[in-house]
Amino acid sequence: MDNSPTCGQARAIAERVLDPELPVLTLADLGVLRDVREDGGRVTVTITPTYSGCPALDEMRADLHRALRDAGYERVEIRTALTPTWTTDWISADGRRKLAEHGIAPPQHKAGPVTLNLTPPVTRVRCPRCGSARTTELSRFSSTACKALRRCEDCSEPFEHVKEI
Ligand SMILES: [Zn+2]
Repeated sequence: MDNSPTCGQARAIAERVLDPELPVLTLADLGVLRDVREDGGRVTVTITPTYSGCPALDEMRADLHRALRDAGYERVEIRTALTPTWTTDWISADGRRKLAEHGIAPPQHKAGPVTLNLTPPVTRVRCPRCGSARTTELSRFSSTACKALRRCEDCSEPFEHVKEI
């Protein structure tokens, strides 16, 4: 019984691991996955944690270990890179679309020299259901520390918003 992994699969496997705090997103969508290297049967994965002090980091590492082991990789090392610091701008376009599809308002791109005039103010978070910009924050923290709870003034539905950092 040959259970050895096909070379080059490690990246695809690591990319499919879901974020423990935002399980509609993969670690690739989130921009957390920095590098996946294969050397023989050995895999080295480099990740950058999201929110500082995020308890999800240990879970992420465990999930990556499990996914790669299940695929037949015996030797897995997970490295953590703290610089450059992760920001919500690293969430991919695909990831933002998935959040909106699940009724979660994605973080907005932060104002920078390139996007200066294209970026609406952070306070104008749009309702993921009806698109209204008339929304108010009910609570700074929702089910997880990275999300705030807001309500739409137009459809009066509460929704979660991934906060910009
Ligand atoms: Zn609405």
